[in-house]
Amino acid sequence: MITVIDLPYPKDALEPIISAETMFYHYEKHHKGYANKLNELIKKNPRLQNKSLVELILSEKGPVYNNAAQVWIHNFFWLSLTPNSVMSQELKQLLEEHFGSLEEFMKQFVEAGVNQFGSGWCWLVYDNGFKIVATKDADIPFGYPLLVIDLWEHAYYLDYKNERKKFLENVFDIINWDFVEENIRQIK
Ligand code: FE
Repeated sequence: MITVIDLPYPKDALEPIISAETMFYHYEKHHKGYANKLNELIKKNPRLQNKSLVELILSEKGPVYNNAAQVWIHNFFWLSLTPNSVMSQELKQLLEEHFGSLEEFMKQFVEAGVNQFGSGWCWLVYDNGFKIVATKDADIPFGYPLLVIDLWEHAYYLDYKNERKKFLENVFDIINWDFVEENIRQIK
């Protein structure tokens, strides 16, 4: 049985940037919904029964892949956020070296997220250097994921309506930079 992670903070912890109402629907209904759907699909197919979430993502296609990937990416998304994290000097330097400045990094990240047509995800990955990549639906990019932001409308519509750009700009205040650094450390 595949389960979602426990939220690492209360549902109102990211207010006002992400409301408790959005967190409720997003985590309880959407994220757990993908896990429920995945477990139904596994129940119908004995071949899938002893596979881990990552094994399902690597070996399956279609609805099994989509629901498994959505469970995994949302786990990674919740961990990418936190109410209070400060970027260390080391990480700031790394990002400045690669993007020129922190502002430029944020600008490119927001642009990639805004320009992703339809539903998807905006990532910072490490693949021979930092890369900002937007993917569609439940696609996971090549490289080591360091950070992900949900671009599906369910992530922001209650709070920002159609303004995905505003959501992305605001979300920078609640990124878990410690998590990003931890993910970078695991590459080396
Ligand atoms: Fe989502």
